[in-house]
Amino acid sequence: MTTPILLSSAAFIIIIGLFLFRAIPAIQAYCTYRGRRLVRCPETQQTEAVNVAARKVVSTAFWGNPMLRLEQCSRWPERQACGQECLQQIEADPDNCLVWNIVSQWYEGQSCALCHKRFGRLKHLDHSPALMDADRRTTEWKGFRAKDLPKIFSTYSPVCWDCHVTETFRREHPELVVNRHRGSQRHV
Ligand SMILES: [Zn+2]
Repeated sequence: MTTPILLSSAAFIIIIGLFLFRAIPAIQAYCTYRGRRLVRCPETQQTEAVNVAARKVVSTAFWGNPMLRLEQCSRWPERQACGQECLQQIEADPDNCLVWNIVSQWYEGQSCALCHKRFGRLKHLDHSPALMDADRRTTEWKGFRAKDLPKIFSTYSPVCWDCHVTETFRREHPELVVNRHRGSQRHV
């Protein structure tokens, strides 16, 4: 009676092993290709923001080689029927075109334009830093379209979250702000 039980246990272990053997590369592929990315559109040579269909990557990676297809592009829906040649850029260097990495690398090592605090690598759980234009107006970096960020980075200054909150308050409630340098008497 014990032989069938042993055989079924062995079969169960083999099935689990085979599942993990396929599941691990599928999960790795998902982690590699999830998230928004910036690519240079082969047709227009302009920067566009795209998302790879991560669930399709998982299902195809489970059974063999991951197949990359887009599920979103800033040129869609007008150009939804394009050949998706930009996927070659993602396949060649998936980390370097990830928006999060591009933003993090831009901030890292720079200092806040207002308080001069130095930025480290961005962390997902931290408040997002901001960008400041020539009129001292600050906006969280996530408030811009991803495809515009490379241009924005060349004309805006980095600002930390604390200074962004302060500047926003100053802009929205100027009547409540005390300007010590000008000797203003107005305060809360
Ligand atoms: Zn600051």
